[in-house]
Amino acid sequence: MAEFHLGAGQPHSSLLGVFWGTGVGGGIVLDGKPWTGRGAAAEIGHVVVEIGGAKCPCGRRGCMEAYAGRGAMEARARKLADEGRKTVLFKIMEERNRPRLTSGVWKRALERDDDLAHELIDRALRALGAGVASAVNVLDAEAVVIGGGLGLKLGEPYAERLRTAMMPHLFASARPPAIRLAALGDLGGAIGAALLASRTLTPV
Ligand SMILES: [Zn+2]
Repeated sequence: MAEFHLGAGQPHSSLLGVFWGTGVGGGIVLDGKPWTGRGAAAEIGHVVVEIGGAKCPCGRRGCMEAYAGRGAMEARARKLADEGRKTVLFKIMEERNRPRLTSGVWKRALERDDDLAHELIDRALRALGAGVASAVNVLDAEAVVIGGGLGLKLGEPYAERLRTAMMPHLFASARPPAIRLAALGDLGGAIGAALLASRTLTPV
């Protein structure tokens, strides 16, 4: 709601929010109103991108989040590193005094051209491309707003890569949705919560 009213979604009347962070969260605004379904709408992280695929933190298999969520990506990086794959990911994590592979750690590893970081981010982008495009095929929203720790940290070059990754899966590929980076940063969630609370108190 914050991005819709005050941020990147302002020019649009419908949007799909994709929050690429520890997990992959979502939000849907249709005709200017939030769509929450029966309370569990927009769980875009659990759109299935591979039947019988990787185990998701939710316990199911093949969800987009199993490939693109930072939590799942870290688990895979650890497993591959334990098996002997070379990577600077965990070295950077230690240098930066971080307890886990934060978005900043991923960004630095990509800047250092780390093979494993590239491989896992590429895999995440393929999953996001299929999952987000599938959601757009259902909703035909005007815009997709990309936020979340990884989305914001990796920024425009990776939003562009998501655009490319979506194309083969888009049904109406002649008129793809606008892909915009969230404009309100980490505070978006808090601002949106305040907007929703004020709406409840003062119905419009
Ligand atoms: Zn899942």
